[in-house]
Amino acid sequence: MEDLPDEASSKCKDLHAYLKQRSAEVGDCVVWTGTVRKDNGYGQGQIKGVTINAHLLAYMAYHNMQLPRLNSNGKRLNVFHVKCTNPICIKNDHLASMTDKEYGELKKKQGLTNKGEKNSSCIITEEIANQIILAKVPKSHPMHKKSQVIADEFNTTIHVVNNILAGKSWKHLKRSEMDVENQTQTIENEEKEESSNDEEDEDGDNDNSNNTIKKRKTCYPKAHNNRKITEQQAKDIIASKKHKHDPEYKSQQRRADEFGVTIDTIGPIDQNLSWKYLDRPTLIVFPKPAFVWDEEKLAIAWERVQKQCVYNKTNNIHTNSPCLEWKGKLQKGRPYIKVFEKKQAAYIFACEYKMKSLKPEGLETRHSCDNRICCELGHLSFGTSLENAQDSIKHRSSKGFKTTDEQVQEIRRLYTETKLTQKEIAEEMGIGRGRVHSIVNYKSWKNSSHSNVDENEAHEDNSIIVEEEEL
Ligand SMILES: [Zn+2]
Ligand SMILES: [Zn+2]
Repeated sequence: MEDLPDEASSKCKDLHAYLKQRSAEVGDCVVWTGTVRKDNGYGQGQIKGVTINAHLLAYMAYHNMQLPRLNSNGKRLNVFHVKCTNPICIKNDHLASMTDKEYGELKKKQGLTNKGEKNSSCIITEEIANQIILAKVPKSHPMHKKSQVIADEFNTTIHVVNNILAGKSWKHLKRSEMDVENQTQTIENEEKEESSNDEEDEDGDNDNSNNTIKKRKTCYPKAHNNRKITEQQAKDIIASKKHKHDPEYKSQQRRADEFGVTIDTIGPIDQNLSWKYLDRPTLIVFPKPAFVWDEEKLAIAWERVQKQCVYNKTNNIHTNSPCLEWKGKLQKGRPYIKVFEKKQAAYIFACEYKMKSLKPEGLETRHSCDNRICCELGHLSFGTSLENAQDSIKHRSSKGFKTTDEQVQEIRRLYTETKLTQKEIAEEMGIGRGRVHSIVNYKSWKNSSHSNVDENEAHEDNSIIVEEEEL
């Protein structure tokens, strides 16, 4: 390694000594001999117990322990290898700080002179992506170039070029009149032609490397999900993650498009599964925006509910009109729908739509039809849990219990699921409080579902039936 100037701080000298111990001159470079990250090929050093890229440590040693931040225009700076493409190189004059864009331009210039030298950890800026798009002209055109030729010119890999041309990455960029479908076809044909001599250095650190070639033919875009990104890009991706209520929030797909990568690159970064050593700033949590009553949106949502429902004329014991029954999937016997980011029972939403107000806190949604999968507006109203329980009792008694067993179960259900007291239940059911007490405490009808009762209790319970029949 190059020596430090005499005036360097002791911290810089310590770091310099640490790096010197763990590096060796190889050719024109000074390469890191310590740990190397498999996924991006950068050397990994330690400082104060924190793992950091070795070339960044080298930069710090020569720059008063500082890493570059922003240039005079406020653009983010990063440290790049400018004289070599060796990610483990820590030689001071092989490194420089610049913006992604400047680096992209530099690489492009170098790419034009160093044909054939591939840089797998390619930086693709928007400008380069645009130039790649412009470089591809139809096969019939005299200026036509194969994707591999373009990749060489831009010092990147054929996969990156093909993804851009096929609109799989940098989706928001304009692609001339060229039909992307045809483009994909052309690319696939070229892939076949070139697959024999196409030995990408990507493969070595790609977990799916064994399948990459196979996949390419059937599942083209998926095969390239692990395109390498630079540390700076990973940092930018991390910085672009926002809380879901943040006004600057963007979906992963949108961010992927903006960074020219796939969602499979963004996802693991967001979940701290890749680029783990990079700092994750704490997300600023934004409050949920206040609910805005939007008639139009509500009407659309109500239409969605109606589409899920069908009128059923048979279920009209309690009402004079047919029920609007949910025909879709049920969860725990109830229909659910997602309205305005909120998943709720479809009949609650229907009642809110009818009442033109959100369900008041503490109230329940009553079904006058006693049909919990019904969304008929005329059958729905808000009420207290007591009213709801009373509905339930009314419905049960008007329907009549087929067996005493059912009645016992209903008493126990009311006692455990509602706030009704034993007295209220007794009154509603028209039986003595003592019987309710013995039923809810399992002193009688201990095994009601099988109606296995002993003789004494059977007598008591028979009287319930008598009373029920007298109603
Ligand atoms: Zn070097
Ligand atoms: Zn109904």
